[in-house]
Amino acid sequence: MNEDRNPFDIVIVGGGPAGLNASLVLGRARKQVLVIDDQKPRNWVTRETHGFLTRDGVSPREFRRIAKEEIAAYPSVQFASDTVMEITGQNNEFVVKTAEGKLYYAKKVIFAVGKRDLPLDIKGLSEVYGKSAFVCPYCDGWELRNRQLVIITSANHALHMAKLISGWTSQFTLCIQDDTPLEAEQKQELSRHGVQVYEVPIESIRSENGMVSAVELTDGTMIPCTGIFFQPKLQTGSDLPKIIGCEMTETGTIVVDAQGRTSVPGVFSAGDAASELYQAITAASLGALTAVSINNELNVEAWARC
Ligand SMILES: Cc1cc2nc3c(=O)[nH]c(=O)nc-3n(C[C@H](O)[C@H](O)[C@H](O)COP(=O)(O)OP(=O)(O)OC[C@H]3O[C@@H](n4cnc5c(N)ncnc54)[C@H](O)[C@@H]3O)c2cc1C
Repeated sequence: MNEDRNPFDIVIVGGGPAGLNASLVLGRARKQVLVIDDQKPRNWVTRETHGFLTRDGVSPREFRRIAKEEIAAYPSVQFASDTVMEITGQNNEFVVKTAEGKLYYAKKVIFAVGKRDLPLDIKGLSEVYGKSAFVCPYCDGWELRNRQLVIITSANHALHMAKLISGWTSQFTLCIQDDTPLEAEQKQELSRHGVQVYEVPIESIRSENGMVSAVELTDGTMIPCTGIFFQPKLQTGSDLPKIIGCEMTETGTIVVDAQGRTSVPGVFSAGDAASELYQAITAASLGALTAVSINNELNVEAWARC
């Protein structure tokens, strides 16, 4: 086991927009920071990230490359390409173990581990995910505007999704994929707005080179389309927050206060892991906010020790 006995002020688990922006702010605040990332973010299925001012349309990998280039101006920030396997200890005395057998010591920890998709259970969906099937209309709705779309959703979300998507295209069909049927009133409202609804399970997604051409239902119906929005089931990007005792919501989001503090002293979280608004700029801003809060805490603690 390799040990780095010098404690870092902060170990950041996860090097996406949240972790990277936190490291930038903390580096500029002259804190010793280690960002450990194993490079498995859920957005790497997509070619472009939209809606991030000054970076609209950049690929997720290019986003990270530019971020690291900028952060390199602050030498107290280090990076490790590794997986954090275990975190033990307590506030100001955390021990971080990695898959490569490294041992790091840290005063504070930030979980910026994002979320993970549960396995996609529709045949053919993984082939089109990130190419012509997307999860967030704010991220990819513009690219699919005025197209013939299929929206794969649940009865609960059907009306919300219909209203949302109608801002980008009027040509869309809803495929309800759960056991709960739509209520008669909901059907009437959708029908009044000319929205076709199918409540039959999907057999498969037809596509070529990642571009969807139709959604096939189990009763043989073919719904031609050139784009899909769907809502994957998500879980926390890592089990570590739960293992260390962080309070979690039922949907796997880490509970934090307005400063990014979790229920465990000295442990913070930012980005998708601690939010349900999945946008790169929001994740980055939560990373910055959490960094400010940790920096204050570290400075106040150091001040009190003198
Ligand atoms: C298909 C798709 C398209 C999207 N398009 C857009 C878009 O156009 N615009 C937009 O604003 N947003 C978009 N998003 C959302 C955006 O990608 C996320 O909101 C953002 O990446 C979240 O940043 P984050 O730093 O919180 O987490 P992530 O970017 O997910 O990063 C978390 C990192 O933590 C690492 N990690 C997890 N556990 C460990 C561990 N134990 N040890 C080490 N590393 C670990 C992961 O490997 C990962 O690299 C899209 C998402 C998807 C899925």
